Amino acid sequence: MLTIKDLHARVEEKTILKGLNLTVNPGEVHAIMGPNGAGKSTLGYVMSGRDGYELESGSIELNGEDLMELDVEERAQKGLFLAFQYPVEIPGVSNMEFMKESVNAMRKARGEEALTAAEFLKVAKEACKQVNLPLDFLKRGVNEGFSGGEKKRNEIMQMILLQPSLAILDESDSGLDIDALKVVANGVNSQRDGKRSFIVVTHYQRLLDFIEPDFVHILSDGKIVKSGGPELAKEVEATGYAWLGKPEEAGA
Ligand code: ADP
Ligand code: MG
Ligand code: MG
Repeated sequence: MLTIKDLHARVEEKTILKGLNLTVNPGEVHAIMGPNGAGKSTLGYVMSGRDGYELESGSIELNGEDLMELDVEERAQKGLFLAFQYPVEIPGVSNMEFMKESVNAMRKARGEEALTAAEFLKVAKEACKQVNLPLDFLKRGVNEGFSGGEKKRNEIMQMILLQPSLAILDESDSGLDIDALKVVANGVNSQRDGKRSFIVVTHYQRLLDFIEPDFVHILSDGKIVKSGGPELAKEVEATGYAWLGKPEEAGA
């Protein structure tokens, strides 16, 4: 599904990713952990084609296609979902309209018929319920005045509606209360079907109590330095990152 080979990438003039390798097969859930500033978000931003993030060398293939050759919409249509791609507020455009357009663009790309307004309303209401958002969130402007937790629930609702083949969730647990965490986990778990894949970037092991990953990777200084199973996350929780031999950088 996803093959990243010897990826070097920079932000502005600074090389952040320095030889990152990662393979994600259909149906797998991969957790990426690592100290602040390691390059976890940068990986997602490079994949999302965010301005200022540039590939220097190496490759990213999604289902055998060079991801960098695709524009942002094509990436979405190929089934890539980057949660943080949609946190922007779009006042005046309702969540419902926005999501209906996005879902129907995806369906079109998959050769499926567009949902009618009534059909979409039905699935949107179910998705709202699943993430515990009141139905009036469908009518509100996209992310307009949403709290952090509401934005996160909305993001997971978008993921549920879009049914991506590969979803990347970044720091999904930062500042979230336990109920919101469970919504994130439930969103991932309800989509796990042996074909869809997930990359969950997280600082804390606690999210992984609810989402049992197939693989855990430690990203440090732009590279994956250790990979293992769920036990690796527990190890990190207990010992921190001191074994990496570098002090944690602040911020980012
Ligand atoms: P993580 O998500 O692992 O905490 P990031 O990918 O956010 O790490 O950041 C990796 C490094 O890239 C950090 O040292 C950060 O300061 C730097 N960085 C991020 N964005 C920029 C930018 N726009 N200009 C310069 N450096 C940046
Ligand atoms: Mg980050
Ligand atoms: Mg960070």
